[in-house]
Amino acid sequence: MRTTIFFLALIALGVALQKGIIEIPRQWAPWAPLHIDDPITPVTKLKLQRLNGDRQACLAALDTVPEAELNVTPVADYSPTESCPLTNIVRMSSSSVRFNRSFVATCPLALAWVMFERHELQPAAARIMGSRVAQVDHVGSFACRNIYHRQNARRSEHATAEALDVTGFRFENGQRITLINDWNDEGEAGEFLRAARDGACKSFGNVIGPDYNAAHADHFHLGMRSFGLCR
Ligand SMILES: [Zn+2]
Repeated sequence: MRTTIFFLALIALGVALQKGIIEIPRQWAPWAPLHIDDPITPVTKLKLQRLNGDRQACLAALDTVPEAELNVTPVADYSPTESCPLTNIVRMSSSSVRFNRSFVATCPLALAWVMFERHELQPAAARIMGSRVAQVDHVGSFACRNIYHRQNARRSEHATAEALDVTGFRFENGQRITLINDWNDEGEAGEFLRAARDGACKSFGNVIGPDYNAAHADHFHLGMRSFGLCR
């Protein structure tokens, strides 16, 4: 009896959702397309991961960003090296920030970056540093290798261009912050880096930095896989 009531309630809820009697804001609705301007919610990661299998929808989401704020070029699937074919990729040249150099990224990685930058990174920069981030320094997104270069480990997210390693930030007012020098800083620089890490955790599947291990003492690894590793 109780089970029947439960299922009837579930069906009623389903019908109400479908008919639009109950409305879920689109950033909370797993089936609604991702919009860059929507606030980040726990459902955002789910949407980003799903776009891995839907290039058209992913490029369409990137396309909603004004051209002046995002310079991204779609790149056809190719294999830089035989054992690491790349699919659903773009080349990211600039966004609201410059990069020390352009990089290849899966389309969802580029999208996760843009959401992070808009909703977390730039607001944290303005709040804590009193200046916007002008340049992001990184040491690459693609490397055809296993995790930690170990022979028997699984493939790194870098083997599929699903992660970016960020080493530092330069601000419009000329300030410069690096992970290696400033992670343990007790002033604004350290506060900004920790806010950037925590903010990144909202759109990337995993974020690992200096608190995780010595291999990450000088960079944030911002990756698309999994749903919550954040250290
Ligand atoms: Zn990495």
